[in-house]
Amino acid sequence: MTISDVGPSQDQAYYRDTYLFESPAQVVAAGQDDDGAWVAVSPNIFHPKGGGQPSDEGTVNGVPVVPSRTEEGLVVLSGDGLALDEGAEVVCAIDETLRKRHAALHTAGHVLGHLGEARGWQSAGHSHYPGQARLDFSPEGLESELATPELRDAVRAELQEAFDAVLARGGAVTATTDDSGHRTVTIEGVNAEPCGGTHVSDLSQLKDVRVLELKVKRGALKVRYEAEHA
Ligand SMILES: [Zn+2]
Repeated sequence: MTISDVGPSQDQAYYRDTYLFESPAQVVAAGQDDDGAWVAVSPNIFHPKGGGQPSDEGTVNGVPVVPSRTEEGLVVLSGDGLALDEGAEVVCAIDETLRKRHAALHTAGHVLGHLGEARGWQSAGHSHYPGQARLDFSPEGLESELATPELRDAVRAELQEAFDAVLARGGAVTATTDDSGHRTVTIEGVNAEPCGGTHVSDLSQLKDVRVLELKVKRGALKVRYEAEHA
Protein backbone atom coordinates (compact mmCIF):
# COMPACT_ATOMS: atom_id res chain seq x y z
CA MET A 1 0.00 0.00 0.00
CA THR A 2 1.31 3.48 -0.82
CA ILE A 3 0.82 6.66 1.11
CA SER A 4 -1.55 8.14 -1.44
CA ASP A 5 -3.80 5.08 -1.05
CA VAL A 6 -4.32 5.66 2.67
CA GLY A 7 -4.29 9.47 2.76
CA PRO A 8 -8.05 9.98 2.67
CA SER A 9 -8.74 7.27 5.26
CA GLN A 10 -6.79 8.89 8.11
CA ASP A 11 -9.12 10.46 10.66
CA GLN A 12 -7.57 13.74 11.88
CA ALA A 13 -8.86 13.70 15.45
CA TYR A 14 -6.88 16.84 16.34
CA TYR A 15 -9.13 18.79 13.95
CA ARG A 16 -12.11 18.01 16.18
CA ASP A 17 -10.68 18.01 19.68
CA THR A 18 -7.71 20.04 20.91
CA TYR A 19 -7.97 18.31 24.28
CA LEU A 20 -7.67 14.70 23.15
CA PHE A 21 -4.22 14.00 24.59
CA GLU A 22 -4.23 10.20 24.44
CA SER A 23 -6.01 7.79 22.12
CA PRO A 24 -5.94 4.23 20.88
CA ALA A 25 -5.35 4.03 17.14
CA GLN A 26 -4.63 1.62 14.33
CA VAL A 27 -1.55 1.70 12.11
CA VAL A 28 -2.85 2.39 8.57
CA ALA A 29 0.58 2.59 6.92
CA ALA A 30 4.16 1.88 7.96
CA GLY A 31 7.55 2.13 6.32
CA GLN A 32 11.16 3.21 6.39
CA ASP A 33 12.78 6.26 4.87
CA ASP A 34 16.11 8.08 5.19
CA ASP A 35 15.15 9.26 8.67
CA GLY A 36 14.22 5.76 9.91
CA ALA A 37 10.90 4.09 10.65
CA TRP A 38 7.55 5.83 10.33
CA VAL A 39 3.90 4.98 10.81
CA ALA A 40 0.61 6.63 10.00
CA VAL A 41 -2.19 5.97 12.46
CA SER A 42 -5.92 6.58 12.55
CA PRO A 43 -7.40 8.32 14.42
CA ASN A 44 -4.47 10.75 14.49
CA ILE A 45 -4.10 13.15 17.44
CA PHE A 46 -0.76 14.69 16.33
CA HIS A 47 -0.64 18.17 14.80
CA PRO A 48 2.27 18.29 12.33
CA LYS A 49 4.22 21.52 11.92
CA GLY A 50 2.44 23.92 9.58
CA GLY A 51 0.64 27.24 9.27
CA GLY A 52 3.11 28.87 11.64
CA GLN A 53 2.40 26.38 14.41
CA PRO A 54 5.05 23.93 15.66
CA SER A 55 4.56 20.16 15.80
CA ASP A 56 3.12 18.33 18.74
CA GLU A 57 5.49 16.09 20.66
CA GLY A 58 4.42 12.67 21.85
CA THR A 59 4.72 8.91 21.74
CA VAL A 60 3.36 5.81 20.02
CA ASN A 61 3.35 2.86 22.41
CA GLY A 62 5.77 4.85 24.54
CA VAL A 63 8.26 5.47 21.70
CA PRO A 64 8.96 9.20 21.10
CA VAL A 65 7.84 10.29 17.62
CA VAL A 66 8.02 13.40 15.46
CA PRO A 67 4.96 14.12 13.30
CA SER A 68 5.15 15.56 9.81
CA ARG A 69 2.77 15.96 6.90
CA THR A 70 3.41 14.37 3.53
CA GLU A 71 2.65 16.12 0.26
CA GLU A 72 -0.43 13.91 0.03
CA GLY A 73 -1.74 15.28 3.33
CA LEU A 74 -1.04 12.22 5.44
CA VAL A 75 0.34 12.79 8.94
CA VAL A 76 3.23 10.39 9.55
CA LEU A 77 5.03 9.76 12.83
CA SER A 78 8.78 9.07 12.70
CA GLY A 79 10.66 7.51 15.57
CA ASP A 80 13.73 5.48 16.31
CA GLY A 81 12.75 2.00 17.39
CA LEU A 82 9.27 2.00 15.89
CA ALA A 83 8.65 -1.53 14.66
CA LEU A 84 4.98 -1.72 13.79
CA ASP A 85 3.08 -3.31 10.97
CA GLU A 86 -0.03 -2.12 9.23
CA GLY A 87 -3.08 -3.09 11.24
CA ALA A 88 -1.32 -2.96 14.63
CA GLU A 89 -3.29 -1.48 17.51
CA VAL A 90 -1.33 1.25 19.31
CA VAL A 91 -1.74 3.89 21.99
CA CYS A 92 -0.79 7.45 21.04
CA ALA A 93 -0.11 10.24 23.49
CA ILE A 94 0.85 13.89 23.04
CA ASP A 95 2.49 16.37 25.42
CA GLU A 96 -0.54 18.06 26.99
CA THR A 97 1.23 21.21 28.20
CA LEU A 98 2.80 21.85 24.80
CA ARG A 99 -0.51 21.25 22.95
CA LYS A 100 -2.35 23.71 25.19
CA ARG A 101 0.39 26.32 24.85
CA HIS A 102 0.40 26.04 21.07
CA ALA A 103 -3.40 26.23 20.96
CA ALA A 104 -3.43 29.34 23.15
CA LEU A 105 -0.79 31.11 21.05
CA HIS A 106 -2.48 30.12 17.82
CA THR A 107 -5.93 31.29 18.92
CA ALA A 108 -4.53 34.57 20.24
CA GLY A 109 -2.87 35.01 16.83
CA HIS A 110 -6.28 34.79 15.12
CA VAL A 111 -7.70 37.47 17.42
CA LEU A 112 -4.70 39.78 17.05
CA GLY A 113 -4.78 39.36 13.27
CA HIS A 114 -8.42 40.37 13.27
CA LEU A 115 -7.68 43.44 15.43
CA GLY A 116 -4.91 44.51 13.05
CA GLU A 117 -7.14 44.05 10.03
CA ALA A 118 -9.88 46.03 11.79
CA ARG A 119 -7.40 48.95 11.77
CA GLY A 120 -7.04 48.52 8.02
CA TRP A 121 -3.73 46.66 8.20
CA GLN A 122 -2.90 43.97 5.63
CA SER A 123 -1.77 40.62 7.04
CA ALA A 124 1.62 39.51 5.69
CA GLY A 125 2.59 36.49 7.79
CA HIS A 126 2.60 34.91 11.22
CA SER A 127 4.50 32.65 13.60
CA HIS A 128 2.94 31.06 16.65
CA TYR A 129 6.12 29.57 18.10
CA PRO A 130 6.42 29.89 21.90
CA GLY A 131 8.69 32.78 22.84
CA GLN A 132 8.67 34.24 19.32
CA ALA A 133 5.00 34.52 18.43
CA ARG A 134 4.26 37.42 16.12
CA LEU A 135 2.07 38.65 13.31
CA ASP A 136 3.41 40.53 10.31
CA PHE A 137 1.51 43.24 8.48
CA SER A 138 2.33 45.35 5.46
CA PRO A 139 3.78 48.66 6.74
CA GLU A 140 2.69 50.60 3.65
CA GLY A 141 0.71 53.69 4.54
CA LEU A 142 1.43 53.30 8.26
CA GLU A 143 4.61 55.42 8.29
CA SER A 144 3.13 58.38 10.18
CA GLU A 145 1.04 56.22 12.54
CA LEU A 146 4.18 54.31 13.56
CA ALA A 147 6.89 56.95 13.13
CA THR A 148 8.29 57.02 16.68
CA PRO A 149 8.68 54.57 19.59
CA GLU A 150 6.04 56.56 21.48
CA LEU A 151 3.53 56.29 18.64
CA ARG A 152 4.22 52.57 18.23
CA ASP A 153 3.73 52.00 21.92
CA ALA A 154 0.45 53.92 21.84
CA VAL A 155 -0.78 51.62 19.05
CA ARG A 156 0.43 48.61 21.05
CA ALA A 157 -1.61 49.82 24.03
CA GLU A 158 -4.68 50.24 21.82
CA LEU A 159 -4.28 46.68 20.53
CA GLN A 160 -3.93 45.39 24.09
CA GLU A 161 -7.08 47.27 25.13
CA ALA A 162 -8.99 45.91 22.14
CA PHE A 163 -7.75 42.38 22.90
CA ASP A 164 -8.80 42.68 26.54
CA ALA A 165 -12.25 43.79 25.39
CA VAL A 166 -12.56 40.71 23.15
CA LEU A 167 -11.55 38.47 26.07
CA ALA A 168 -14.03 40.20 28.39
CA ARG A 169 -16.84 39.47 25.89
CA GLY A 170 -15.65 35.88 25.40
CA GLY A 171 -16.70 33.51 22.65
CA ALA A 172 -16.70 29.92 21.52
CA VAL A 173 -14.06 28.67 19.08
CA THR A 174 -15.37 26.06 16.65
CA ALA A 175 -14.15 24.34 13.50
CA THR A 176 -15.91 22.77 10.55
CA THR A 177 -14.44 20.74 7.70
CA ASP A 178 -16.28 20.56 4.39
CA ASP A 179 -16.51 17.53 2.09
CA SER A 180 -13.39 18.52 0.19
CA GLY A 181 -11.37 18.74 3.40
CA HIS A 182 -11.26 22.54 3.75
CA ARG A 183 -11.38 23.50 7.40
CA THR A 184 -12.76 26.78 8.74
CA VAL A 185 -12.14 28.00 12.27
CA THR A 186 -14.69 30.40 13.71
CA ILE A 187 -14.16 32.55 16.80
CA GLU A 188 -17.53 33.80 17.98
CA GLY A 189 -17.71 37.58 17.72
CA VAL A 190 -14.32 37.78 16.01
CA ASN A 191 -14.00 36.10 12.61
CA ALA A 192 -13.86 32.89 10.59
CA GLU A 193 -10.70 31.84 8.78
CA PRO A 194 -9.39 28.80 6.91
CA CYS A 195 -6.96 27.07 9.28
CA GLY A 196 -5.46 23.64 10.00
CA GLY A 197 -4.08 24.40 13.47
CA THR A 198 -5.23 23.65 17.00
CA HIS A 199 -7.18 26.19 19.04
CA VAL A 200 -8.70 26.60 22.48
CA SER A 201 -12.42 25.79 22.53
CA ASP A 202 -13.44 29.08 24.17
CA LEU A 203 -11.72 32.45 24.55
CA SER A 204 -12.12 32.11 28.33
CA GLN A 205 -9.29 29.54 28.11
CA LEU A 206 -6.79 32.28 27.21
CA LYS A 207 -4.86 34.08 29.93
CA ASP A 208 -1.88 36.42 30.19
CA VAL A 209 -2.40 37.71 26.67
CA ARG A 210 0.09 40.50 26.09
CA VAL A 211 0.81 42.55 23.01
CA LEU A 212 4.55 43.00 23.51
CA GLU A 213 6.00 45.23 20.86
CA LEU A 214 5.52 46.75 17.42
CA LYS A 215 8.53 46.99 15.15
CA VAL A 216 8.99 47.86 11.50
CA LYS A 217 11.76 45.66 10.24
CA ARG A 218 12.74 44.17 6.88
CA GLY A 219 9.71 45.63 5.14
CA ALA A 220 7.11 44.39 7.62
CA LEU A 221 5.30 45.63 10.68
CA LYS A 222 5.97 42.91 13.25
CA VAL A 223 3.67 42.64 16.26
CA ARG A 224 5.02 40.34 18.95
CA TYR A 225 2.64 38.81 21.45
CA GLU A 226 2.39 36.25 24.22
CA ALA A 227 -0.49 34.11 25.49
CA GLU A 228 -0.97 31.25 27.93
CA HIS A 229 -3.60 28.58 28.38
CA ALA A 230 -5.72 29.08 31.50
ZN1 LIG B 1 -5.76 28.72 13.47
